[in-house]
Amino acid sequence: MSTVERQAWDVVVVGAGGAGLRAAIEAREQGLRTAVICKSLFGKAHTVMAEGGIAAAMGNVNSGDNWRVHFRDTMRGGKFLNHWRMAELHAQEAPDRVWELETWGALFDRTGDGRISQRNFGGHEYPRLAHVGDRTGLELIRTLQQRIVALQQEDKRETGDYESRLKVFQECTVTRVLKADDDATPDGPVAGVFCYRRESGTFFVIDAPAVVLATGGIGKSFKVTSNSWEYTGDGHALALLAGAPLVNMEFVQFHPTGMVWPPSVKGILVTESVRGDGGVLRNSEGRRFMFDYIPEVFRAQYAKDEAEADRWYTDPDNNRRPPELLPRDEVARAINAEVKAGRGSPHGGVFLDVSTRLPAAEITRRLPSMHHQFKQLADVDITAEPMEVGPTCHYVMGGVDVDPDTAAATGVPGLFAAGEVAGGMHGSNRLGGNSLSDLLVFGRRAGLYAARHAAALAAADRPLAGAAQIDAAVAEAVRPFDPPGQAAEEDGAPAEKPENPYAVHQDLQQIMNDLVGIIRREPEMTEALTHLAELRRRAARATVEGHRQYNPGWHLALDLRNMLLVSECVARAARERTESRGGHTREDHPGMDPAWRRVNLLCLLRTGEPDAADAGGEGGRIRLERRDLPRIRADLLDLFEDEELAKYLTEEEVKDR
Ligand code: FAD
Repeated sequence: MSTVERQAWDVVVVGAGGAGLRAAIEAREQGLRTAVICKSLFGKAHTVMAEGGIAAAMGNVNSGDNWRVHFRDTMRGGKFLNHWRMAELHAQEAPDRVWELETWGALFDRTGDGRISQRNFGGHEYPRLAHVGDRTGLELIRTLQQRIVALQQEDKRETGDYESRLKVFQECTVTRVLKADDDATPDGPVAGVFCYRRESGTFFVIDAPAVVLATGGIGKSFKVTSNSWEYTGDGHALALLAGAPLVNMEFVQFHPTGMVWPPSVKGILVTESVRGDGGVLRNSEGRRFMFDYIPEVFRAQYAKDEAEADRWYTDPDNNRRPPELLPRDEVARAINAEVKAGRGSPHGGVFLDVSTRLPAAEITRRLPSMHHQFKQLADVDITAEPMEVGPTCHYVMGGVDVDPDTAAATGVPGLFAAGEVAGGMHGSNRLGGNSLSDLLVFGRRAGLYAARHAAALAAADRPLAGAAQIDAAVAEAVRPFDPPGQAAEEDGAPAEKPENPYAVHQDLQQIMNDLVGIIRREPEMTEALTHLAELRRRAARATVEGHRQYNPGWHLALDLRNMLLVSECVARAARERTESRGGHTREDHPGMDPAWRRVNLLCLLRTGEPDAADAGGEGGRIRLERRDLPRIRADLLDLFEDEELAKYLTEEEVKDR
């Protein structure tokens, strides 16, 4: 039995992006001792990269905006697969969360009369995104960190110790959520987390009756992605392994505009603000092609020609918005179709031009990061020439299945999830700007309910993980140094070939990109699942050299488990859903199918041998379950015209409303 350092806290938050920090602040403000663990440096979460802004219906730029309009836009964007209650809470509470940030010191861009400025974004009826140039995420994290430091200073004054009630463990990775020892069944309560320090490789355990997962997304399973190295689906996998289901995993957002050139930067995001601020998309023939791709469900809300679209920027009340501002799934599919039809740019994208739309000084004022990014990385001056852009894997709508009000994970007492790792809020497609607001709204709720959960337990009733679980977690973590089956002629069997974790990762990314990417087909997804089974076998032989200090190969070998689990969820759910909706496009099943309208697919961990063939003759670790979406409350349905509802809902739902 190994001796592993243990510390007891009330609430442990895994992740220090927007969702994690907001959760931690709330739990600490409720008076609970709160630990935050993040695998990157404190302050370097993915949230920092957010550019365009936070969606909140404050009505500062157009007084017609309010939470009901925001709710409506969010449901439309998600093609009505959103959990309506999450979309309602999000739209109602987002303005308070933005104002709160301001009281904590955030410096947003202002309108002429001094209010927080708001910008246009795809799918939002009114200018709605509070922003700080195109560096909004940086300001959000800076403000939340400052709030954490302020709370720690309060604690120092009261207790003499900055970290007595709120402590950040940076550069530490959680590899397991621990369960109560007397009830380690899938629905047994959580007891804390098992972690390692990335620098030293030493292990430690945080005992806590409430665990908030706020680990972000899964993009690193795909080859072309806007996501940073942290996005290996850890929280998704931790939840599955702890017994919680994931929902909506077939819905992965491919952002329409990532860089396509040079190859070393392929996938890096080109913010939607470029289009929000007037940028237009053209093909190699110079045609503004988005007018050819307005789907029937959106036709009434978008401009009929370039003249109307251009008038909208100065007179939005009397004109309709340009089709470049359709929801992201529509724009990504349109770009894909143009490239496939041979009308792409030299490097396989299309042209995004803001240089002919705004004066140079205005471009550098509104889009400083984009100007810098293209100049530095591609030697393109966006004030004078168009950018080349194409779709990039950006965001996962699927995630831990949670209770909308409390953020509690389904079926596992004490487990909570918020931010990109949680599912349900965005349905089949997220609107730009709705993630930062989601992080704040549900981060706060997760912190609040995690605190209440922990506070309700008497000390003697707190679940505790025993030595066997911790030993198993240690054994799993050190396995890449000496994977089974590699000693020569072990038990008479030939030694298995060791695998390089980087090679396994590269192959995984290629498979997900090629076979479960933006346009999907049944045979390709079946092929992907076969490859994933093989990759799981290879990952089990992933071998690293050296020791646990400063060993990135080891970190990747451990991350592979998570990426393989979430990739299987995506592939399995995507193959099952035989329709196209939002971030899930099936070439063999184009169009939305009313039979799927109210169906959520849940992914659960199968018990038993991972790769033993199941009834369908196919191995795997994930099984799917279907669940009906809850009915949308009548007063919320009344916010839509009947004609519009008929495009989304089943006949029965429209009749019964
Ligand atoms: P993150 O901010 O990624 O935080 C995750 C945290 O979890 C990190 O601290 C990480 O270290 C930690 N972590 C992960 N795994 C582990 C583990 N195993 N153990 C310990 N810690 C772990 N959204 C908008 O609304 N508006 C925008 O303008 C916008 N712009 C974007 C621009 C870019 C380039 C990208 C890529 C995304 C953008 N998004 C935007 C999306 C948005 O930024 C993300 O969805 C959001 O920041 C996710 O926040 P989070 O708190 O859920 O996760």
